[in-house]
Amino acid sequence: MGSALTSEKEMSVYESMAARFDVAARKLNLDEGLMKYLRTPNREIIVHIPVTMDDGRLETFDGFRVQHSIARGPCKGGVRFGPQVTLDEIRGLAAEMTWKCAVVNIPFGGAKGGVVCDPAKLSMGELERITRRYTAEILDYIGPERDVPAPDMNTNEQIMAWVMDTYSMHVRHTTTAVVTGKPLELGGSRGRREATGRGCMIVCDQALKRFGRKRENTRVIVHGFGNVGSQAARLMHEAGYKIVGVADISGGVYNSHGLDIQALLDFVSANRQVKGFPGGEPVGNLEILEMDCEVLLPAATESVINSSNADRIKAHILVEGANSPTTPPADDILFDRGVFVIPDILANAGGVTVSYFEWVQDRQGYFWPEADVNEKLNYIQVQAFNDVVHYGEKHNVNNRIAAYMLAIERVASTLKMRGIYA
Ligand code: NAD
Repeated sequence: MGSALTSEKEMSVYESMAARFDVAARKLNLDEGLMKYLRTPNREIIVHIPVTMDDGRLETFDGFRVQHSIARGPCKGGVRFGPQVTLDEIRGLAAEMTWKCAVVNIPFGGAKGGVVCDPAKLSMGELERITRRYTAEILDYIGPERDVPAPDMNTNEQIMAWVMDTYSMHVRHTTTAVVTGKPLELGGSRGRREATGRGCMIVCDQALKRFGRKRENTRVIVHGFGNVGSQAARLMHEAGYKIVGVADISGGVYNSHGLDIQALLDFVSANRQVKGFPGGEPVGNLEILEMDCEVLLPAATESVINSSNADRIKAHILVEGANSPTTPPADDILFDRGVFVIPDILANAGGVTVSYFEWVQDRQGYFWPEADVNEKLNYIQVQAFNDVVHYGEKHNVNNRIAAYMLAIERVASTLKMRGIYA
């Protein structure tokens, strides 16, 4: 954790987003006024949430919802819970959601939310009361046509069910499309739980195709073993990739012959951590980033690849399952070293894409078989991968800047057509 924290000082999430945005927008010769407007969120909501704790104490938690853009449709983006959540981080991630939705060409803008709390120290009752009061505080700003939250770090299907119920109680009718990532029984989509990990595998497959590489000869390290990391590891293992390393906040395991991922999943569901898994050598959760592999899949938190370790990353392909796992100075180092980076706003867009499918299904009241969801996801991820890589080749920029340029171009063109309301 030490160097991840140091690197956060290297550049905050918003600063990283803005630095990349500026490079891309200048290459597009975007008008200065439009540049400033697109870099700035539409709206930032700060709420203070009073909650009665189990022991009778009254606690107040800070919460945020940042709505970056509604140019292409309703805002869309996750809500994260965590002790380190900051407004700056949520602001940066909200903008990244706008670019992500534009890269995969789905009709949403971008938003992100967060509550400063430590879920590990909260009971289910406390978690539910925090979630419901946070939802009530932002209620006027969310809705199927306004802003549609989803799960992110430390939030899950149960929390989305509480958001949906709280909203529905206020508006006096069940409104499933107000939130995505819900349980299947409450209007969730088949395939949503696996979607982000599946999307990572789809773009990784495309990269392998480019390099004429086989899954069976490809060693993968997955950093983070929550929703994104565990599903990516499971699906890639089942598809024939060799998963040699996995880490979570507790520590990591490495096995050069390949880890037994089902045994690891069983171990984590029993012990709630990767540390102690007997099927590999114990390694530190930062050390593992630098170990031998062809594919590194960060799926944990921000800025873990930074100028202090980028020159020691051995992977040839970086699939960014997490949001903002690499700092801009690290981008330059990786680019110089020839690492093929599949940037977050492309690699992890499978989650928001299936969230879009969930929103469509809720609004239609008609639910699709999982095979249809996966086929449509595959189509969108492959198309977006090709769009980004071809854009990069055409404009002679790396994949990250290509993804930003493509997204900014799409959002700017929508804004120009709509005009500025005054
Ligand atoms: P999660 O809370 O389910 O899992 C996070 C995992 O990361 C846990 O295993 C945790 O132990 C681990 N972790 C945290 N800090 C770590 C550290 N310093 N070193 C090693 N491991 C660490 O969260 P998630 O939903 O899987 O999200 C992970 C990342 O993916 C986040 O950046 C999130 O914004 C991004 N993301 C998630 C989705 C989604 O659908 N859930 C979609 C797109 C992007």
